Amino acid sequence: LEIHIVPMTMNGDDERGLLLVLQDVTAIRRLERMRSEFVANVSHELKTPVAAVKGFAETLLAGAVNDEETARSFLTIIQDESDRLNRLIGDILELSKIESRRAPLQFSPIDLPAFLGRMAELLSPEAAKKSIELDVRSEEGLFLEADEDRLGQIVMNLMQNGINYTPEGGKVKVRAEIAEAEDGEEEWVRITVSDTGIGIPKKDIPRIFERFYRVDKARSRSSGGTGLGLSIVKHLTELHHGTIRVESTVGAGSKFILELPLLQP
Ligand code: ADP
Repeated sequence: LEIHIVPMTMNGDDERGLLLVLQDVTAIRRLERMRSEFVANVSHELKTPVAAVKGFAETLLAGAVNDEETARSFLTIIQDESDRLNRLIGDILELSKIESRRAPLQFSPIDLPAFLGRMAELLSPEAAKKSIELDVRSEEGLFLEADEDRLGQIVMNLMQNGINYTPEGGKVKVRAEIAEAEDGEEEWVRITVSDTGIGIPKKDIPRIFERFYRVDKARSRSSGGTGLGLSIVKHLTELHHGTIRVESTVGAGSKFILELPLLQP
């Protein structure tokens, strides 16, 4: 609570008074704290790959460049870390664009079976590398009103995570169907992305949609994660007036359940 006292003069000079202003600044302070935490997190996340690039470049210049094998391995690290920086910067810009509403959504009817087929095609090389089966199916003739690019980001992120956090030989399954609303009207579409992967511990579930939150930092890093994917997913889902939740069992797999209104209000 902030208290401001403002001296006041009324009716010319003869009546003096004080104006007492009580302002609840909880929400403002919380927002300020979140913003500065985010900036601190961003700086930390950016520093790690930059330090690696610099460190390996220095070692190369100090002589390692003369050994071809060492040089190759260091240059590969420099390349990977630069890619990582690029992904981070891309995700940070994307989040800030979404949050400042600078990019309004463009809704159009989406043919879900065809749309999900394209997503599966885009990710199939990556899935094949880990011998992960991608099983994508949608109810026939299902159309959904959404921003196609943004829906693509949502579904791609969820499928990508499914692949990243599932060991070799596992399975990632995507289903799309009409979901009954509580009043019995058929007006929601449910898209589920489930995997046979490592799962998420109960205590972490409430936090995984937070920016930069990872259950296992090393694992996220090695799979190329930025820790921002699910917060982007959550934001974009909300911009579609939908909801997202997750059910998971450690060691057995995770299921992300996305529910979107069939037509945008
Ligand atoms: P990241 O870039 O680290 O994957 P995300 O925001 O996409 O970031 O996800 C946050 C964290 O949630 C991940 O680091 C991981 O710990 C957990 N997670 C997300 N999806 C899955 C999944 N399908 N299976 C297991 N853990 C997951």
